[in-house]
Amino acid sequence: MRTSQFPLSTVKETPADAEIASHQLMIRAGLIRKLAAGLYTWLPLGLRVLRKVEKIVREEMEKAGALELLMPALQPAELWQETGRWQQYGPELARLKDRHERDFCLGPTHEEIITDFARNELRSYKQLPITYYQIQTKFRDEIRPRFGVMRSREFIMKDAYSFHADQESLTETYQLMHQAYSNIFNRLGLKFRAVVADSGSIGGAVSHEFHVLADSGEDAIAFSTGSEYAANVESATALFKEQILVPAHEKFAKVATPTQKTIAEVSEFLNVPVSKVLKTIAIVRIQRDDEGNENEVFYNLFLRGDHELNEIKTRKIIGDFRFATEEEIIANHGCVPGFIGPVLDANYPCLFDLSVKYLSDFVCGANQEGFHLRGCNWASDEHTKVFYQKALAKQSFYDLRNVVEGDLSPDGQGTLTLARGIEVGHIFQLGTKYSASMNAAIINEAGKNQIMIMGCYGIGISRVVAAAIEQNHDEHGLLWSNSLAPFQVVICPMNMHKSERLKEATEQLYQDLLAAGVDVLLDDRKVRAGFMFSDMELIGIPHRLVISDKGLDAQTIEYRARTDSESVDLPLAGIVDFIKTKLV
Ligand code: ATP
Ligand code: MG
Repeated sequence: MRTSQFPLSTVKETPADAEIASHQLMIRAGLIRKLAAGLYTWLPLGLRVLRKVEKIVREEMEKAGALELLMPALQPAELWQETGRWQQYGPELARLKDRHERDFCLGPTHEEIITDFARNELRSYKQLPITYYQIQTKFRDEIRPRFGVMRSREFIMKDAYSFHADQESLTETYQLMHQAYSNIFNRLGLKFRAVVADSGSIGGAVSHEFHVLADSGEDAIAFSTGSEYAANVESATALFKEQILVPAHEKFAKVATPTQKTIAEVSEFLNVPVSKVLKTIAIVRIQRDDEGNENEVFYNLFLRGDHELNEIKTRKIIGDFRFATEEEIIANHGCVPGFIGPVLDANYPCLFDLSVKYLSDFVCGANQEGFHLRGCNWASDEHTKVFYQKALAKQSFYDLRNVVEGDLSPDGQGTLTLARGIEVGHIFQLGTKYSASMNAAIINEAGKNQIMIMGCYGIGISRVVAAAIEQNHDEHGLLWSNSLAPFQVVICPMNMHKSERLKEATEQLYQDLLAAGVDVLLDDRKVRAGFMFSDMELIGIPHRLVISDKGLDAQTIEYRARTDSESVDLPLAGIVDFIKTKLV
């Protein structure tokens, strides 16, 4: 391709709404343009990258034996009603009506559609296992579309679905897909981790997420220093060791904390470590019966001040909940938020995080505005003792918190460290969640009707492009790997328009590289060298060749990799072979 026929759309200004590097650079390098919130046009340059991701994904899916199909983006509500997700899926589901007033949605995912397809197409266990995949546009009316194509409302996903007669077969395909995903992210040249994940609303028991490691990642992931354990903080656990309750050192006292409401303020004011301030969280548990009636119960959760509540773990224990309102807190604690603590004769349930079990000499709210209690001890001070014994008797200690740096790995090997990641892929063992509610069955070996077992496997194709940039960029622009680069090599001729000889040599080199199968861009614009170079650095072409009259005199050409700080002069004759060695 020549820049005269492939106009670059680089821009100088960093868009005001672009908060992270990948979003800024994708606009500045001319890969995408915004249409509206969460909606982007891929420019020819960006699309080349997107297609490269798709190609690698497609090749690895085919290698894993998956079959490509293409399902409609527009989906009838009836199928979503069969699985109950028409009600469950919130406003993220883009719903619409057709001209006959029938309900439809724009697919955020395709479990319902593929399960409907499979129940019609698959009859016998002999057709199993089978895996289908598609690369297709998804719609999610995200509450906060942001970071460009990283979290957009319309995006490209590779989604695959597998069907099985037994769990063993699902496990086998799941492992095959896990391996295919690792191959894909390795081929894309990304630093990534597969982590144990919460399977969320899609359901199923076993699930892994694939994260591209980057500081700006929205997810926190935890890995063990001593084992293979890696999990999303949403579901990561730490080993809890039973201890002996430490005896009290401090005297129990009620102390004035006139304006200190937050854990940090109380900790500073009373000169007590944050870890020794008890965090009391008032919530309201929402129970729904079969008829959809809601019953609300006030609860207290207790955590160490330095720990964060993990809502996902908590929901797994008690189901859905919301945070209590100020009125509800006053009604149950007799005081405003900021000063609440254990209510010793509470007539509502209390749950304790495990790490609170052996807390000693701690501070908690006094349930009186402007006061906290210090020197609290589960074992010695009479009030908390009774409370604690009640908790012990009811076995109200649970894992309610996010793991933190330094926690023991749950397998007992090593400690946990935390990193940020961008979720680019997610694989699930769904089991019969969709096939049971949609009655997707086959005739099994024994001649009986049997519900199929399913797996599903997604990759955010468009997000991969943004994640790759987030991980690989510098102050000058993008840094593509050979496999993702829109063009692998750029030829920059110096003042070609003034030299016929140079023009000919440049054309020859361009043709030779094309013939060698190299994805080459020839910058034939009549622009200054500096301008050319900064454009090529911005769009991140991994290999640059500068050809000049001076070089021709010496039969050399100047080469510089995008990640090198210096360029080198190489013999012109061997340059195609040299480039080939750089691309393997
Ligand atoms: P997230 O937690 O980031 O919202 P998710 O759990 O909703 O992701 P899945 O339903 O597992 O995502 O979708 C599969 C893949 O699609 C994700 O791993 C991610 O790479 C991509 N993806 C999901 N939502 C978006 C979005 N709004 N924009 C771009 N890519 C997305
Ligand atoms: Mg989501």
